[in-house]
Amino acid sequence: MHRTSAMAFGLALLAAAPAWAQQPQRPQIQTTKVDGTDNVYIFRNGNHQSIFVVTSEGVIATDPVAYGRPQGGAQYIAEIRKVTDKPIKYLVYSHHHYDHVAGGQAFKDAGAKIVAHSKAKERLAVLKDPATPLPDEVFDKQRNLTLGGTTLELTYLGLNHSDSSLVMRLPKEKIVFVVDFIPVGSVPGRGMIDFYPIEAEDSIKQVLSMDWERLIPGHPGPGDRLGTKQDARDQLAFLQDASEAVKVAAREGKCWEPAEKEVKLPKYEKWPGYENNLQFVTRRYCGLWGRGT
Ligand SMILES: [Zn+2]
Repeated sequence: MHRTSAMAFGLALLAAAPAWAQQPQRPQIQTTKVDGTDNVYIFRNGNHQSIFVVTSEGVIATDPVAYGRPQGGAQYIAEIRKVTDKPIKYLVYSHHHYDHVAGGQAFKDAGAKIVAHSKAKERLAVLKDPATPLPDEVFDKQRNLTLGGTTLELTYLGLNHSDSSLVMRLPKEKIVFVVDFIPVGSVPGRGMIDFYPIEAEDSIKQVLSMDWERLIPGHPGPGDRLGTKQDARDQLAFLQDASEAVKVAAREGKCWEPAEKEVKLPKYEKWPGYENNLQFVTRRYCGLWGRGT
């Protein structure tokens, strides 16, 4: 094979590989300070991540990301302890899905108050997952956590991915932490079971109207890069293009299986997850345009 085309082939393989396969040598757990901030950190465990903020009065942590890992919560706290010995005052759940919020007990034991949207508590109360303690405090629309001069704004924008997602914004740092409903530069995955297509578009538009410059996603973006408003616009365009394509297929009677096989969006074929995940995107829009749900 010609060298250039071999390289291009290699790059194409890399782009198609899931995020975990791109950097097989990276450690399972990693904590990184966000460039340009004094006190904002990303805690990554495998292919999930969350943020924590260190202030003079204590720590605000988010999502334990310890699904299927009984030690994950304690390991997260150990990472925080490498940075500060201040008390962990809050643990915020981004939404109710276990892959992000399992593992909270270690934080509760450390004295943190768990904060979440009221819907997250309702759902977790029914499911009684032993690894996921119920929130101590819930709210419906907006809650600001202020600690040691740092404010973390928690905003509920309605349905999008799940009915309990919060957008977390650090106004001074112009950073948002958005879990699952705005993936950075990639095709959303299989796990978007409770996805509300029309409302999700509206939520992304609302996020775009907020004041921020960098977006930290709940799953690492390509090469661990953070997102920009352009990434949010691109994700919105992707969903709109998928919606339009599936609508056409649905009206030809092609939902579910023929549509899942036939719908292609070549404009996005370089995005990680395109090969594996487009069928699930199609399935969700078949729910909307093929069944009206
Ligand atoms: Zn989720």
